[in-house]
Amino acid sequence: MNAQPEPSRSPSSGLGPAGPHDPEHDLTASYALEPGYVRGLTDRVVSSSGQSVATYCPFNGQPLAMIPQSSSADVAEAYQRARRAQEAWATTPLDDRVEKMLALHDLILDRQSEIIDLICWESGKARKHAFDEPMHVAMTARYYARTAHEHLDSARRTGVVPGLTRVEVNRVPKGVVGIISPWNYPFTMALSDGLPALMAGNVIVHKPDAQTMLSALLAMELLEEAGFPKDLWQIVAGPGRVLGGPMIGRSDYVCFTGSTATGKLIARQAAENLIGCSLELGGKNPMLILRDAGVDRAAEGAVRASFSSGGQLCVSMERMFVADQIYDRFVRRFVEHTLAMRLAAGLDWGTDMGSLISQDQLDTVVAHVDDAVAKGARVLAGGRARPDLGPYYYEPTILEGVTPDMTCFGHETFGPVVSLYRFHDEADAVARANAGEYGLNASIYSQDGKRARAIARQITCGTVNINEAFGATFASVDTPMGGMRDSGLGRRQGAEGIHRYTEAQTVGTQRLIRFAPMFGMSDKTYARVMTANLRVMKGLRRR
Ligand code: NAD
Repeated sequence: MNAQPEPSRSPSSGLGPAGPHDPEHDLTASYALEPGYVRGLTDRVVSSSGQSVATYCPFNGQPLAMIPQSSSADVAEAYQRARRAQEAWATTPLDDRVEKMLALHDLILDRQSEIIDLICWESGKARKHAFDEPMHVAMTARYYARTAHEHLDSARRTGVVPGLTRVEVNRVPKGVVGIISPWNYPFTMALSDGLPALMAGNVIVHKPDAQTMLSALLAMELLEEAGFPKDLWQIVAGPGRVLGGPMIGRSDYVCFTGSTATGKLIARQAAENLIGCSLELGGKNPMLILRDAGVDRAAEGAVRASFSSGGQLCVSMERMFVADQIYDRFVRRFVEHTLAMRLAAGLDWGTDMGSLISQDQLDTVVAHVDDAVAKGARVLAGGRARPDLGPYYYEPTILEGVTPDMTCFGHETFGPVVSLYRFHDEADAVARANAGEYGLNASIYSQDGKRARAIARQITCGTVNINEAFGATFASVDTPMGGMRDSGLGRRQGAEGIHRYTEAQTVGTQRLIRFAPMFGMSDKTYARVMTANLRVMKGLRRR
């Protein structure tokens, strides 16, 4: 695993030269970004508290921005602005919304380099992993633009008396959607969940994670540039445990992505307010490498599956079950690939893994690996921090011999640590993959697609990727994505991803007959006629 020198800049970034801008005397200055550029973004936070909190760049631990903090009054103000904006937005013709969504798609592709730079500075991830974010947002924008009419137009359905009862279902926007998002994919976790809400006529109040505010603020700037009205997307900043309650109390729906522990708190508050919520939570995702898997392909896939974004990816793999017949060959190739990974700080393409985001993340990774090693696990690759590269670097790590008494056996590490397990019997592998409380994402490697798809049906996960780690499902935005069991509630993407932000309203128009006795009929005769009608309808195979 090689080190690269100092962070370098992308010439097309549009950001200023690498600092320092003397943050000691100017708290709005930073080592990496132009103060004016940062202020242009942070001015968008709804904040009158006069308080700011610094964020730091994981590449070098240096200050990056001062983020203005929102008080409870600021949260109330954000919701007021949002509600005013929603009245006009809900009546904006769908085709106008579609046009803006497609303009956003183009803008994101045009400003891709700047977006990626900012994500790297804030999250410390490698450029190739940051690239996934604008790509995913552009795909989502295109998808919901192209399917807006299919998902949102009023739809005729079968009335109770065919020909005489006309029924249609309208998709009414919920109103103001509260989004609470994490730090790991700060650009796409904001926009990809928010865009369908906007498309359906809602507006957003968003609380990004404190560590990655700038990426979310840039998303807000891009929305305005694409032609979306100014107040449609409000951003508030502050600790989740402080702002969460006031947000949920004012929202008509809440979309949360983060840990299972916080998700359960959000669900309770949503229940008290009788609003819907979608919860995208944690996982301990399994990969099954069957005896007929292509070993090279599986080994290459295993690297992306485990170490993308330093393993700080909800759908990444932390448990690998490998068939006895190919175990040794697979492990040899996987370890070779992992040892060849290039770790570095900076914005350049060609880095295979960047930094973890924070000291907290590093502490968790160190604790999980040290605990496993102390209890007898073997380290096949990695297993150590790399302070020579940056304060939070940790090598991609492969463990063998992990047992149930070790923390990393069942607890999510959310870092670059994967445990290998040998299996002899596929049914046993499926049972072990399904063990535990989570159910987010799984992967199966096999050259027999039909057999792999049959096994996929036995896996208790919201998504299963065959011969791929997570991209086949996550990037297929026409399909629902989300977790079973403790990995979540509800789905993002596809029809489910936009319908969650709407109320289904049924309008029925009755002609000629009424639902009561007519022509002097008694109640008893009416009941008899209606009963006969039910028998006829079944006979006619009506639904
Ligand atoms: P977290 O739950 O601590 O924080 C996520 C967000 O919730 C942040 O914005 C935070 O400020 C806010 N928050 C924290 N406490 C809150 C409270 N009491 N009320 C309201 N908001 C609160 O999660 P994290 O540790 O920062 O993120 C990592 C976790 O997120 C991992 O478990 C990971 O698997 C999960 N995740 C899941 C998905 C998915 O799509 N399923 C995607 C990304 C991350």
